[in-house]
Amino acid sequence: MIIEIDDNSGFCFGVVTAIKKAEEELTRTPRLYCLGDIVHNSMEVERLSSKGLISIDRDTYLNLRDQKVLFRAHGEPPSTYQYAKENNLEIIDATCPVVLNLQKKIKQAYEESDPADTQIVIYGKNGHAEVNGLVGQTEGTAVVVEGLSDLDKIDFSKHIRMFSQTTKSIEGFNHIVEAIGERVKPGCKFEYNDTICRQVANRIPKIVNFVAKHELVLFVSGKKSSNGKVLFDECRKVNPNIYMVSDLEDVDYTIFLGVKSVGICGATSTPKWLMEALKRRIEQYENYYN
Ligand code: SF4
Repeated sequence: MIIEIDDNSGFCFGVVTAIKKAEEELTRTPRLYCLGDIVHNSMEVERLSSKGLISIDRDTYLNLRDQKVLFRAHGEPPSTYQYAKENNLEIIDATCPVVLNLQKKIKQAYEESDPADTQIVIYGKNGHAEVNGLVGQTEGTAVVVEGLSDLDKIDFSKHIRMFSQTTKSIEGFNHIVEAIGERVKPGCKFEYNDTICRQVANRIPKIVNFVAKHELVLFVSGKKSSNGKVLFDECRKVNPNIYMVSDLEDVDYTIFLGVKSVGICGATSTPKWLMEALKRRIEQYENYYN
């Protein structure tokens, strides 16, 4: 059986930088708090937690004083920074530069628009950490649309300035743009900004080629990963014999019986070491059964 790991899968530069910052900081301090999981991958979170990185939720954050806290690549709304300032929290800011740039664009659009006649719309997942950070740039006023069923939240008699969460699919974005364009009232401007990160979008053609050449594919990703969902859906279109796995125990090893080629790929939040461990585990399985 051939088992191949996709060269183009694995951490994007935003995640690499955030993890590097955490590891550097942990060489100086035995304990570092991280607001939310540093990456949507429980195995990587566990690895870093053994080095002293402690994931905390927002309620815990809002009770911290005089500590060091890392903000992950997803970014945070201004209120999170404000709380840190008021409570002597030292921030290690690992917000991805792509997200930071998007936050700035949204803030600028919000500040130069009159809310009486203009709405800021964000195409993204409601409640997702990055989206919360983006909505925070508009003092909570932006309208979040996840799909066509959310379009009724938009007031089409106002101008619209739309942005996208960085990890959405370009196809989904184009659909929303088209649907909004059809409903905008005469005299209203509709400005849309494709702010999708190409670290995800550019992987699609490569990953799709990779999965098409294998008989069976294991897509390694945390279940909460947005880009994992986008990439998995694209892969499944070309190879339905694909399984999403988040750790080694998720795999039913009997699925490999009679299979000649297995591809292993993953999201921008998937560590290479996990894909390699999975490959070794399949090889052990193969040796056991042969
Ligand atoms: S997917 Fe893009 S925006 Fe998100 S963390 Fe990675 S590089 Fe940054």
